Amino acid sequence: MKSKTIDIIVPCYNEERNIKDFFVAVQEVVTNLDGYVFRYIFIDDGSEDGTLDEIKEIAVDGIKYISFSRNFGKESAMYAGLRASTGDFAVIIDADLQHPPRLIPEMIKRIEETGCDSCSARRVTRKGEPRIRSAFARAFYKIMNRYSDIDIIDGAVDFRLMNRRMVKAIVSMPESQRFSKGIFAWVGFETQWVEFENVKRISGESKWSVWGLTKYAIDGFLDFAVSPLKFVGVFGGLTTLGSALYLIIEIVKTAVLGKDTPGYASTICLILFFGGLIIAILSIMGEYIGRMYMETKGRPIYIEKESNIDED
Ligand code: UDP
Ligand code: MG
Repeated sequence: MKSKTIDIIVPCYNEERNIKDFFVAVQEVVTNLDGYVFRYIFIDDGSEDGTLDEIKEIAVDGIKYISFSRNFGKESAMYAGLRASTGDFAVIIDADLQHPPRLIPEMIKRIEETGCDSCSARRVTRKGEPRIRSAFARAFYKIMNRYSDIDIIDGAVDFRLMNRRMVKAIVSMPESQRFSKGIFAWVGFETQWVEFENVKRISGESKWSVWGLTKYAIDGFLDFAVSPLKFVGVFGGLTTLGSALYLIIEIVKTAVLGKDTPGYASTICLILFFGGLIIAILSIMGEYIGRMYMETKGRPIYIEKESNIDED
């Protein structure tokens, strides 16, 4: 039987101290898998440390790399990896060993046994993670699943094995503001889940700041939801209706009881309230317009500085 190829896509940003350990750990797991040939595609996402040198040092046969001209973010790195992938399968995995390589054979088995298109990992605990981050994450999944076009499983990480047709579907999505968790769900296909406990990264620090994560969550949500626009529409409609009713009441009151002196306080309150509301609504619209603006520029998702992959 012809063996199948699996591309291991590794986004790396300032991981110089992890690359070797990562490579050894993955090799240990995959070398004994009969019937599969593994290839690595390392994406150096504009690292400022020696990540690229570390990658080049292990870059023997079957190890490919793409190095970006600057830091474009993990989303761009994953896209570059998937685009460069030509194997029967592709698996995306973090370089800090927070995604246990032992799950790779399990994912392969799942796909082979069930005939599904992808198998993704899901963290069942968030041990070792700041409490506030877990709380925010949970709130994010709730809002996302309720108000956007897609459903995302709580705890799903970007550690995922996919077959060729799913990879092709993902690469065919041209948007430059990418949110992979949403894209994986949006393209459809049957996904199986394997579970694992949270592990600490072997060395270095997470690149996510609280602000960075919040922005990522908001961006991700807006990428897949237009419900905020509908919401402000409904809200605007209801306030208009309320004002109309109020107007009728006032007219009737004036007709029956005669004119009374109106209070300035209530007038000022209403002006401020609606002024604030209009600005809020405009800024929500502005968020979408800003995204449209960036998207219409059609800028590339990443820019390559060097690579050992032959362009064909
Ligand atoms: N990463 C990347 N570009 C970035 C930030 C992160 O390629 O701008 C890579 C990073 O090297 C790691 C993976 O994405 O392999 C996950 O990053 P990190 O560990 O910082 O995130 P966390 O595990 O805390 O979610
Ligand atoms: Mg990590």
